[in-house]
Amino acid sequence: MKQAWKWYIVLGAILGVVYAIVPLPTTKLVVWPLLAWSSVVAIVVGVRRNRPAARPPWYFLAAGVATFATGDNLYSFRSYVLHNDIPFPSYVDLVYLAVYPLLVVGLVQMVRRRSGGRDRTSMIDAAIVTVSVGLISWVFLIAPYVRIADLGVAERVFSIAYPVGDIALLAIAVRLAVGGGRRPLAFWLLTGSIVALLAADALYGHLNLTGAWHEHNIVDVGWIAFYVGWGAAALHPSMTQLTVATPVRRSVNARRLVVVGSTVLIPPVALFVDQSVGSVDNGAAIAVASVVTMVLVMIRVAGLARDVADGRSETRFETLLDNASDAILVVSAIGVVQYHTPSSERVLGGAPGTLDGRPLAARLLPDDAEQLQLLLTGSMGPATVEWRVRHGDNEWRDLEIIAADMRGVDGVDGFVLTMRDITERKQLDGELRRRALHDDLTSLPNRALFLDRVGHALSRGHRDGDSIGVLFLDLDDFKLVNDRLGHAGGDEMLIAVAARLTTMIRPGDTIARFGGDEFAILVEDVDIGSRIEQVADRVLEALHEPLEIGDEPVLARGSIGIAVGASDTHNPDDLLRDADAAMYVAKRSGKDRYVLFASAMHDEAERRRVVAAELRGAIDRNELVVFYQPIVEVHSGITRGAEALVRWEHPQRGMVLPDDFIPIAETNGVIIPLGQWVLGEACSEVQRWKQAGIVDESFYVTVNLSARHLQDPRVVEHVVAALRQSGLPAAALVLEVTETALIEDLDKTRATLGSLKKLGLRLAIDDFGTGYSSLSYLSAFPLDVIKIDKSFIDQLALTTGGPAMVRAVVELAQALGLQAVAEGVEEREQADALELLGCHLAQGFLFARPMRAGEMERRLSGDRVPSR
Ligand code: C2E
Ligand code: CA
Ligand code: CA
Repeated sequence: MKQAWKWYIVLGAILGVVYAIVPLPTTKLVVWPLLAWSSVVAIVVGVRRNRPAARPPWYFLAAGVATFATGDNLYSFRSYVLHNDIPFPSYVDLVYLAVYPLLVVGLVQMVRRRSGGRDRTSMIDAAIVTVSVGLISWVFLIAPYVRIADLGVAERVFSIAYPVGDIALLAIAVRLAVGGGRRPLAFWLLTGSIVALLAADALYGHLNLTGAWHEHNIVDVGWIAFYVGWGAAALHPSMTQLTVATPVRRSVNARRLVVVGSTVLIPPVALFVDQSVGSVDNGAAIAVASVVTMVLVMIRVAGLARDVADGRSETRFETLLDNASDAILVVSAIGVVQYHTPSSERVLGGAPGTLDGRPLAARLLPDDAEQLQLLLTGSMGPATVEWRVRHGDNEWRDLEIIAADMRGVDGVDGFVLTMRDITERKQLDGELRRRALHDDLTSLPNRALFLDRVGHALSRGHRDGDSIGVLFLDLDDFKLVNDRLGHAGGDEMLIAVAARLTTMIRPGDTIARFGGDEFAILVEDVDIGSRIEQVADRVLEALHEPLEIGDEPVLARGSIGIAVGASDTHNPDDLLRDADAAMYVAKRSGKDRYVLFASAMHDEAERRRVVAAELRGAIDRNELVVFYQPIVEVHSGITRGAEALVRWEHPQRGMVLPDDFIPIAETNGVIIPLGQWVLGEACSEVQRWKQAGIVDESFYVTVNLSARHLQDPRVVEHVVAALRQSGLPAAALVLEVTETALIEDLDKTRATLGSLKKLGLRLAIDDFGTGYSSLSYLSAFPLDVIKIDKSFIDQLALTTGGPAMVRAVVELAQALGLQAVAEGVEEREQADALELLGCHLAQGFLFARPMRAGEMERRLSGDRVPSR
């Protein structure tokens, strides 16, 4: 039945041929009605079968065709059956004229439904064509009737009504042709039949006017085509699409412009024709038509210019979308991707072409997919969210999504998701956060993060009733390593230590680096004193394993302070301070060990603060005293020199020994004026002895120079001032520096020592054997004296090993041309052993304790008597 329209055309063709063959009047009375009414039947059948969404337009058209057929029937009936001479106009003309409004209404309804919106452009185009063609109609069909002088009013009106009706039909047909909408075969059948009708009417009008009209002629072909074409159009299945709306497309259609544009030429051509057939009869009408078409063309051109601009911006917009780095997707209410920009595939990853028509959730993590669901159900509102999408096989990327609900918005109708890849931004963000909380060198947590973790651990412990422990580790003599291996080597060592420490803590524990050579370890759920001490032991042990730095095995040592606390008694800062204090005690008790914090250490810390404050005024208040300890020639017992050792006669605490305030003075800088004062005092005292003749010229005094003072740029100046003010010969002064002080800053120290030596004094290395024992230093500095530390002397009593070590040191000193002085000799045996080993000078309790200047003076006076 789909072919019904074809069979109908075949039937129409056959009837047309029959109509042509069969003579009048039979053909007009039998064949013609068959043709005419078959069209009406075809339209009704077509509407029934094809079920267009909109039926009214078709019923109006059917009514129009039926009216037309009725008119034909009445006319033929009157002419051939009643043999009436039909007057003009008659009621039959009324029937005929009724056809126009019916067809026009039907067609207008069709046009309305076809164009999705108001299509102004098509209306103007249709108007231009209509006016131009209407002009022709006026010139050749209408005006002649207007001018015929003997025509009655009714005759004149009806004569004009036909061409006017045709023009109206023409206008709507043109509008149909130039407007939007689909153009299936049914469309062409319909417009073709209208054209056929108009052509036949025009020809009929013309022939009638010239008196050449007669029944049953070629003009009938046009009307037959009209009837058959209309019926076939309704029967064709595509007729349903004629009333389907399609959006207005704003494209510049070149073909249409040519057609519309050329109709503008009609008025001048008409003028030419009018003029060439004689006088110009239709000048006014041609002028009006020209003006109207011109105005319409101008409006049209203005619209065209805007369309072109719009078209451009639309193109620009499309280009923008195509090249946008952000992905823009439109997803339906059920989350299916309906549209996406080209960049979307890059942003979202996955194989090309796998986005459209697929659910977006398939690309997301379950949590994010859930969020998408919330978004689509509208329970989230307008939102900016962050999702992770599966990008490559194994790669996830972070996206920032801005979602906009645009359901019901023309041309979108969905959720617009703008997605931006923020993976890099997130990485940078993470890196910045990491940097804020981590140590750059070792990547361990830094102090800030450590304190935070301690805080959390304390509050966790509070709930569980557990204690937590903090280990504070300070590497021993790291400065030496740094100086020997260089800065890079030092860094390498810190990294190696960090790595080693990391391997031995439990996953839940935290290890941090505080900068320099300080590390801290947080140990949770500690049953006080057992596990934490095991951890400290393990740390010390781990450090004992040599570290490979460069090609060299380097030994690391550390001092650990441990503090244990709970949230009700401690805050993170307390714990760290306690651990720090305990670490300090560990250092002082000989390094390479751990010390558990005891509350007494708090007093110690407090005491240190008080001491530091009091010490500043102590010099001015004359609370400092220099004691002297004889340096004795072992075999003769003669005092050859004396070491100046400072004491603090504290008004409340009594005699304070230097170990209790020198380190404090070193840390707060008081050591400089203190050192200056001792230097001046010792030089003056010994010079007085010399001038008093108590001691000879060879008698010398040794003064301890702290590392801090040695680094001070004014140290040489201070020494020069002490010598000048006292008058002591430089040769009678020995400055004692420790190994640690020497290697502080090698080049600078060497230069300072050189300047001091130039003054004529001598230099001694103090506490030899306790610091970093690299013998190469001994030859690197302009030294004169080695003071062998008490720890070596103590070993002299041992049967094995001990004497050998001391002998080695003495031999070394001799090899380097240095004078060896033994410290801390308390036993006679030690003195004898030293004498045997070739160490001739010594100091110690065996000979004398450090004493006041006056006591020393008496002793020296006493010495002198027997020796001279
Ligand atoms: P030091 O330079 O090694 O001084 C020797 C220390 O050993 C002195 O302690 C002395 O009293 C002690 N001593 C001497 N013989 C014996 C002995 O037979 N047995 C024992 N057990 N000890 C002995 P002191 O006076 O308490 O001084 C301690 C440290 O303080 C000194 O060690 C020195 O490093 C520093 N010091 C003392 N006075 C000054 C000073 O004026 N300036 C600087 N910078 N440091 C000073
Ligand atoms: Ca000393
Ligand atoms: Ca010493």
